[in-house]
Amino acid sequence: MWLTSSGFRPDQRPRYNAKVAPQIPSRGILRSMAISFLQTVRVASYIAGRKLRGVKRYPLVLMLEPLFQCNLACAGCGKIDYPKEILQKRVSVEDALRAVDECGAPMVSIPGGEPLIHKEMPQIVAGIVARKKFVYLCTNAILLAKHIDEYKPSPYLTFSIHLDGNRERHDESVCQEGVFDKAVEAIRLARSKGFRVTINCTLFNGEDPDDVAEFFDTAMKLGISGITVSPGYSYHHAPKQDVFLGRNASKHLFREIFKRRRRTSGVSWSFNHSGLFLDFLAGNQSYQCTPWSMPTYNIFGWQRPCYLLSDEGYAPSFKSLLEDTDWENYGVGRNPRCDNCMAHCGFEGTAVDDAFARPLKALKAALRGPTVSGPMAPDLPILYRDEARLGKVTEIPVSAIKRNLATEQR
Ligand code: SF4
Ligand code: SF4
Repeated sequence: MWLTSSGFRPDQRPRYNAKVAPQIPSRGILRSMAISFLQTVRVASYIAGRKLRGVKRYPLVLMLEPLFQCNLACAGCGKIDYPKEILQKRVSVEDALRAVDECGAPMVSIPGGEPLIHKEMPQIVAGIVARKKFVYLCTNAILLAKHIDEYKPSPYLTFSIHLDGNRERHDESVCQEGVFDKAVEAIRLARSKGFRVTINCTLFNGEDPDDVAEFFDTAMKLGISGITVSPGYSYHHAPKQDVFLGRNASKHLFREIFKRRRRTSGVSWSFNHSGLFLDFLAGNQSYQCTPWSMPTYNIFGWQRPCYLLSDEGYAPSFKSLLEDTDWENYGVGRNPRCDNCMAHCGFEGTAVDDAFARPLKALKAALRGPTVSGPMAPDLPILYRDEARLGKVTEIPVSAIKRNLATEQR
């Protein structure tokens, strides 16, 4: 039997699509050139403008899903289990650019499905670049060599290549041999043509910190600008739910990985994350989710409340998404489906908010990097509403919550 590094067959391994890839300035000692100076300045001034105007909820990254169809079929993918007629639908160039304008976020991440299947993707990307938004085109890279000349290098365009690990780990993760090699070839090709390239990586239960550290070293040596990394989100639609990392297991894993930086090869890792988000991953921050910071637009409209939860309905406009979503129903301790989530689409925005509120704390985290020893910050209390509409709240002991206890106890 072909087993993954976590002990599960590839066809049993549900995946969180790390293509969500929010790209937030990081100034930590782990970074070098993960985020360009131009992007750092633009995003910082955008946030400062919202803060000065007293805007409570504002978007940082638009998650633009132009289609759900993909040329891979990872068994646990939370995005491709739609009927054929839905998989064949596309967001038009007009609708995509309207969503970009309506949202106003300074960064746009284009996940999928596989965006390079969309015939009008070059026009969508060109339109976003023309608006001077930073666009991250997320791809499994299989079609990149075929389509790369339809794009022009720009400081506003980054190819974000899906890579979950070294050759064996990645090919098992995507359920197809040879994909790792194609992705690496595509990275080299894109770099040779002057494109900015990052990778996005999802981590699951059973990851070996040594393997992950070695993979990060390998990836950086390919000349990429940075790494987007996330613990896998337990998609509601995924066929198997017990492979995901619980919160405590995630925090311990990230501490172990961060301990290994430069330990063997001396290679410096750059992450596409803020210093405080990395510190959150390592268990040192008690953050609540801010799902509006990375809103999702796809063929159905504006997805409530976030990129990960797809059964909560859609808003007809971005304004309606912001104003009519019951945000208090989502986040750690507020909704069982958020219980184990530490994804950047929920918590990177929180970390950035915190950095603006407490710049000295952010500077400290940035200069020192994530703390990898000592007691962890407490988790937020679990408060599940019995009758949400009536506002009746029940406090549930942490011990009663299914938080992948087996993995958390290690
Ligand atoms: S490569 Fe395609 S099938 Fe696999 S997780 Fe990504 S979108 Fe889903
Ligand atoms: S915690 Fe936030 S990002 Fe995660 S599933 Fe819940 S609403 Fe979505």
